[in-house]
Amino acid sequence: MSLLNHTHDPAARSWVQSANAAGSDFPIQNLPFCVFRRRGSGAAFRGGVAIGDQVIDLAQLGAAGALQGLAAEAALAGAGASLNPLMALGPAAWQALRHGLFDLLKADAPDVAGTAVEALRGCLVAQAQVEYTVPAQIGDYTDFYTSVHHATNIGKLFRPDNPLMPNYKWVPIGYHGRASSIGISGQAFPRPKGQLKAPDAEAPVLAPSKRMDIELELGIFIGQGNEQGSPIGIEDAENHVFGICLLNDWSARDIQAWEYQPLGPFLSKNFASTVSPWIVTLEALAPYRVPFTRPEGDPQPLPYLDSAANRQGGSFDIQLQVGLLTDQMRAAGQSDAQLCRTSYRHAYWTVAQMVTHHTVNGCNLQPGDLFGSGTLSGPTLDQAGALIELTSGGKHPIALPNGESRTFLEDGDAVVLRGWCEQAGAARIGFGECWGQVLPARA
Ligand code: CA
Repeated sequence: MSLLNHTHDPAARSWVQSANAAGSDFPIQNLPFCVFRRRGSGAAFRGGVAIGDQVIDLAQLGAAGALQGLAAEAALAGAGASLNPLMALGPAAWQALRHGLFDLLKADAPDVAGTAVEALRGCLVAQAQVEYTVPAQIGDYTDFYTSVHHATNIGKLFRPDNPLMPNYKWVPIGYHGRASSIGISGQAFPRPKGQLKAPDAEAPVLAPSKRMDIELELGIFIGQGNEQGSPIGIEDAENHVFGICLLNDWSARDIQAWEYQPLGPFLSKNFASTVSPWIVTLEALAPYRVPFTRPEGDPQPLPYLDSAANRQGGSFDIQLQVGLLTDQMRAAGQSDAQLCRTSYRHAYWTVAQMVTHHTVNGCNLQPGDLFGSGTLSGPTLDQAGALIELTSGGKHPIALPNGESRTFLEDGDAVVLRGWCEQAGAARIGFGECWGQVLPARA
């Protein structure tokens, strides 16, 4: 488990001034990873690290020789068009790179005018001038279901007599999703068509979904994999996690309601999922660990899903927010309206438990695999991470500040997810933003 060290010192400042601005997502204590290129350059995509409003070009940095040893090796592994080679190197390499960059970026670096710092200065690109791509070659995508509040709310709508299945409090539920349709923030996609069946209709029809929804999730990128047949124990689970991003798992509720039994979600989920450009490492998140607890009366996890470290700090207090920007708001120059606010701390299962459970049968994970946390609804309805919950199945429309209202998404609607961590005694760090937009269905 990644613990606190000098890179978390809330007093640390960088000579990159924008990193020291109050409210910046990317201070020197964060250093999240992305894959980017200079916009319009047609150049090859390459790995990058955020500092303030800049990106450090890892390909250029690796060639400049500003880092030594394992840190230099890690920078070179992160220089390509996907972060998989860096992910495969494991936590010692990720830490060496983080610490190497921290030493070069801090305001009081002993050699602040030295050649290594000068080399790094030449590797900075303004974030305003870059475009991003999905940061890893995602071989497999698994979507979990770790919010008991979401599972209960959805269950009530889909199965009023039997909302929460009896396995929920024992098994970290998940299903295998589709990696090909995962896109980067800014993704726009046509409204999906599918089989829709009204409750009183005799047969379904093929039509564009009328109940397009969002799912506020976190994405968990796997670092080192495991050999098929060799489960990852819970004590070792986090060593296999590279970091966490924002994830919007768009969902067509009307397609879902008709297709999901008996094998689970299929075409209602696989037309698009959007990730944020930035992956925040578990080391950066160390100040925001919180105890994993179970409500009184709930079963404790089976021994293979339990450890002292997981109980002590297996959960993360990550603040999450969803905003909606309609065509009308965009035309009027307004900013997005908040749909919900919650925290990842309410999840019923931890990151470590997801990794361990996924591999307990011998299933092999690979570098770059992505887990979705599942919709992260909090305990109260205003903390729900999906419209189907916020509107009680479309029955209670949400009033927007400009006079519009929504039950589900309309064509042109753009949704933004934001995430950040903030508490006294620690530096505020952020995840940036994850944008996506629903376009009209294709004819
Ligand atoms: Ca989902």
